[in-house]
Amino acid sequence: MKQSMAMFEINENNELVMSCKGPVGESHFQFSVPVGYTPTDHMPNLTFEQWKLKIRNAAFAGEISAELASKILASLDRLPDLEPGQKVCASFSNGKDSEAMMLLTAIKYPPDRIMALFADTKDEWPETYDFQPVFESWIGIPITTLETEGIHELLRHRMPFWPMMKRRHCTKNCKMIPQRDYLDQQGYDQIRLQGRAKNPPKAKFRSGELLDVKYPAPVMLCGERWSESANRSQLPHDSRDDVILRYTHRPVLEFRIEEIWELIFWMRAPYNQVYHFVRRCACAGCPFASEKEIETLGEHHPDKLDEWCETERYINHPWKGIGFSTIRARLIRSGRYGRMAVSKERKYA
Ligand code: SF4
Repeated sequence: MKQSMAMFEINENNELVMSCKGPVGESHFQFSVPVGYTPTDHMPNLTFEQWKLKIRNAAFAGEISAELASKILASLDRLPDLEPGQKVCASFSNGKDSEAMMLLTAIKYPPDRIMALFADTKDEWPETYDFQPVFESWIGIPITTLETEGIHELLRHRMPFWPMMKRRHCTKNCKMIPQRDYLDQQGYDQIRLQGRAKNPPKAKFRSGELLDVKYPAPVMLCGERWSESANRSQLPHDSRDDVILRYTHRPVLEFRIEEIWELIFWMRAPYNQVYHFVRRCACAGCPFASEKEIETLGEHHPDKLDEWCETERYINHPWKGIGFSTIRARLIRSGRYGRMAVSKERKYA
């Protein structure tokens, strides 16, 4: 096993147990929901100053750790003030990290200055589609779903090869480009690299046509964290994104996985139920998932695994040399295929 590879397992209470080995891994984290946890109906309506006081008091009263409180306050301070007419644009996946990022965003900025975009790869977990309206209603910020060609369409017809760790054509085409196109269509300015002084670069659509700029470039926000992976451990707090052509800030970059959940539970927010059986909220059959996660997919949502078997047929090369179809055959043989699909309860505790 490679040093940076993550392992995980589900315990007898159907809780996810993380056990990541590696220099920056999330070490030995056990996902468990506080006993009797119930989310509130909506996020408390407080001013920024009231939130800061509440966070300090929570640390003082031992409701959250002092370390988490100081990370929250530092992150809020680091988030930029907005120019007149400027918005923040949260890149929202419905996962825990982007949820925590949204919580900080909603603490710092008034709702009418926040946009949230969810790029639908058409292979999201059903739990993710269920969660989005629940969270949207709780936080009181509209989340715009961006239609994309979908991961299967992309991998079957337009780019029929498996993504690689450092060249994720799926992320670029199903997540990044749809965000850029949406912002361009709405008339949000871009941050272009400086050209010659006489010819300052103008905002353009991907087609090369000039963009009719109506608003300043938004401050983009995303939920990446240093401790997620060795790749992400080098990310800066903010940088210009070469695909989206806007500046991206990362408010939860320094948070550890425990702190993400501590924040969500302290805020009494709802959360995506998919975390009761997988460690990542991503495409359901993401080719970077582990074999065990793909087995879990087949147990819970066999129709989703069927789709990946079909995509594998188009690519004509077995996923990771193992094959989605091999995993499906194994699950069928052992009676595990779809065994959790009927009995699964969907509830938002
Ligand atoms: S979750 Fe996986 S499959 Fe989906 S876009 Fe990201 S890397 Fe690609």
